[in-house]
Amino acid sequence: MPGTELFGDEERKEVNDVLNTGCLFRYNHPELRQGMWKAKELEVEVAHFTGARYAHAVSSGSAAVACALAAAGIGHGDEVIVPPFTFMATIEAVLYAGALPVFAEIDETLCLSAEGIRQAATDKTKAVLLVHMCGAAADMTAIQQVCRELNLLLVEDAGQALGAFYQGTSVGLFGVCGAFSFDFFKITTAGEGGLFITNDEEVYKKADTYSDHGHSHVGDNRGMEPHPYLGFNYRISELHAAVGLAQMRKIDRILAGNRKNKQIIKDILQDVPGITFRHMPDPQGDSATFLNFFLPTTAQAQQVVAELAATGVGGVNYWYTNMYHFINQWDHLKELRSAAPLAIHHLGAPQDYQNLELPKSQEVVGRLLSLGIRTTWTDEEAAATGQAIAAAVRKVLG
Ligand SMILES: *Cc1c(COP(=O)(O)O)cnc(C)c1O
Repeated sequence: MPGTELFGDEERKEVNDVLNTGCLFRYNHPELRQGMWKAKELEVEVAHFTGARYAHAVSSGSAAVACALAAAGIGHGDEVIVPPFTFMATIEAVLYAGALPVFAEIDETLCLSAEGIRQAATDKTKAVLLVHMCGAAADMTAIQQVCRELNLLLVEDAGQALGAFYQGTSVGLFGVCGAFSFDFFKITTAGEGGLFITNDEEVYKKADTYSDHGHSHVGDNRGMEPHPYLGFNYRISELHAAVGLAQMRKIDRILAGNRKNKQIIKDILQDVPGITFRHMPDPQGDSATFLNFFLPTTAQAQQVVAELAATGVGGVNYWYTNMYHFINQWDHLKELRSAAPLAIHHLGAPQDYQNLELPKSQEVVGRLLSLGIRTTWTDEEAAATGQAIAAAVRKVLG
């Protein structure tokens, strides 16, 4: 949770700016706000950082994914390819858009593979909702190629990958549009918040309109402008945007700390027989929020998890069984349990989620351990973490 490690006077100052004006709303009221437009400033900051032509801040990463789907024109009855390894929000966004998730295989990139997309696609598939897991980009060359070939829209859930690039381009800019999250666990946080990016003006306008009850925000008096579409309330407050803004101004520092500490630990684990690392299509573009590594088998990975727990080494995630990020834990989805009827209840799920077989994803996530990197670790602290993990792995593998 790198952003939260660096909370300080900068965040307090930005929040106080907003509290001092009393204008917590991101639109209108120029007479109150004394020139403070924190949501707009946050958008400028992220657009500059990612190189996106358009950026629009919203209330959460989940909201940003919902806006991305709506702006890409994905809705009722559309089949959308998704990964079985992601935060649940990805799948929920598809379901609440009235669309139908179709699961495809990931590979050692921890993201959907081009091959997985090809195998899952049918003539009913409309889009791929690609997730860049654990802070680094998917294999974009191959994925863009397969999407072009099969005529699939590409939308990116980059909820946990702000700061990740592929061959110099920010994640979120490879397809129609992309979504980021600023929740408490992400590389920079706003407390709660999210952000949508695109290079397409029309797509941007749709997302902007969708995020605020259909207001087009043309002109400077929200409420008196045209309402081209229906929307909903996904607005970010000025207070949250203020925190997000202070955090964005620290992202280069956060990335530098992450990369330094990750390298120290990777250098130590590199020498441990049996450990292999996540395949990264562009290692230079890694945001280094996680060090992801594999054990030879799922059973050995679980033994290492137990050994780490027994020796009190924290910070290592095992998504396969004890986290909420893999399909094995999603019984509510498999049984399509929801508080109210969804489109999928009427249209029928495109796959039998209860008996879905994704052997490659099972094998990859079963063998995977993910260490969350702290940006504020000293070299010594990072090295000690690496050595503790190395000792646990050596003990298990003998
Ligand atoms: C965190 C996350 C989200 C949701 O973001 P919130 O801000 O918590 O709503 C969506 N997708 C992915 C991949 C995430 O990691």
